[in-house]
Formats: sequence, C-alpha cells, structure tokens
Amino acid sequence: MRALLTLLIALACAVPVHALGQRGLHPRFRISRSELAECVALLPAAVRERALAAPADFLTLMDCVLDEQPDLLLLVDKTRGLPTDYVPPDLVSLDRYPLELTRSGLSLRRVIMADLLAMAKAARAMGIILPLSSSYRSYDYQVKIYQQELMTKSREEVERELAPPGHSQHQLGTVIDFGSIDATFAETRAGKWLLANAAAYGFSLSYPPGSERETGYTHEPWHYRYVGKCAASLIEGFFGGSQQRFLEFLTEKRRFFTERRKA
Ligand SMILES: [Zn+2]
Repeated sequence: MRALLTLLIALACAVPVHALGQRGLHPRFRISRSELAECVALLPAAVRERALAAPADFLTLMDCVLDEQPDLLLLVDKTRGLPTDYVPPDLVSLDRYPLELTRSGLSLRRVIMADLLAMAKAARAMGIILPLSSSYRSYDYQVKIYQQELMTKSREEVERELAPPGHSQHQLGTVIDFGSIDATFAETRAGKWLLANAAAYGFSLSYPPGSERETGYTHEPWHYRYVGKCAASLIEGFFGGSQQRFLEFLTEKRRFFTERRKA
C-alpha cells in the first residue's frame, strides 16, 4: 500500500497544474461519474466500490497503464492463448546479469530487466536472495513438457498445474518462477519478501490463494508476472490482488478508456 501511495503521489505531481483546474473526475479523461460506474458495474462489489470511492486515483493509474506496452498486459490463460509462433521481440539471456540462477539457459524480455535487477538488489540489501528457476518457455518447449506429463497423468491432473501449449504465461517472456517452484516457497524469506514487495517493482503474483476458480490454477507462490508498476498498483490497490480479474477488465475496457482519454 505504501508503494501504491508513493506511486500515486509521483503520478499526481506529473499532471500539469493547468489541467487540475478542469472539471470532471480526472484531468486526463472525459469520463463522468455515471460512465465510470457503468464501466465497472460488472466487477465484484469490493473492486467496484474501491474504484468509485477513489476515482481520481483509479484513473491516474489507468492513465499510466494505457502508456505501457500493450503486450506486457496480454491476457493469457487456459482459454485465451498466444499464437504458436509468438516469440517476444527482445529476449535476452540471463547468464550475463548479476542474478541468482538455479540453471543456465534462462531468458526474459529486455524491457523488464531494469525493474527485475532493482528488485533483486533491494532484496539483497535485506540479506535475501531471489533464486530464478524458470523463465521464458517457447511454444515447442511447452508441447514437450505437456506431452511428458501426459505419459503418467490424466489430462485433468496435468492441466491443474500446467497450461496447455500456447496458454502458458511463460511464453510472454515476462514471467519468473522463483526458488523451489512448490508450495514451500511461500514460507521462505524470499517468498515472503516477494509477496510484500514485488508490486513496487511491477511484478504481480499470477495465481494467489483462493483464485483457482477464476484462474484455473491452484496457488503458485513462486510464479510472478511483470505487468509494470502502475498495473501492479492497480491490481494490489483496487483489484484485491487479482491479476486475472484486472487483465480481463483491461482487455474488455481498454477501448472505453482510450476513447475517452485526452490527447
Ligand atoms: Zn510458472
């Protein structure tokens, strides 16, 4: 929450002073209160109430989210996949960075590296190492591990933990599995530190506890997706920590906000 406040203050200071005199919910948008209420009408009551209780903060973060590269915010889940030939445009090998890697051959998108390195450095300053265990997974690699798993388990069992090929967030090149990649990670110092601090660096827990119905996955305390600092703050501050719900909302309503944003 402290990170959210800091970010909101920084963003508010970036709004030109002359714009603050204009009427409306927010100087950057032509949106009335009733339009915003209609836009968020289908969200869960708690999310809706938070947005309508602090519409200026909500829209400040949304304004910032619309400036993010759209491919950082693609919705990828069990029903919405990526094209089989989707390869992120700026993959870099992690071998040359000062990071703790549990194996070689890991890669991520260059666009997330500055925030990842800052997060690892901040953790290190607290005496905490963040071990990176898995990162980008190509479509072909997903096919391989999916088929391997199917040799010993039913399809239903496999898909509870593993996305069908083309449906893994890992294909985005912005997702990291930390540490042991199992439930014990939540109890480690690294797991606890990430839960409390990852959002300040733009990372969001994709499958939090109790989200199996909406995400299709059981709790994965090790799996973080980079969405950018503003999206991460919106998820934490308004969407109750649900990345899935936020990305569904953004996918559906992106046009609503872009059409009403001032040039
Ligand atoms: Zn993962």
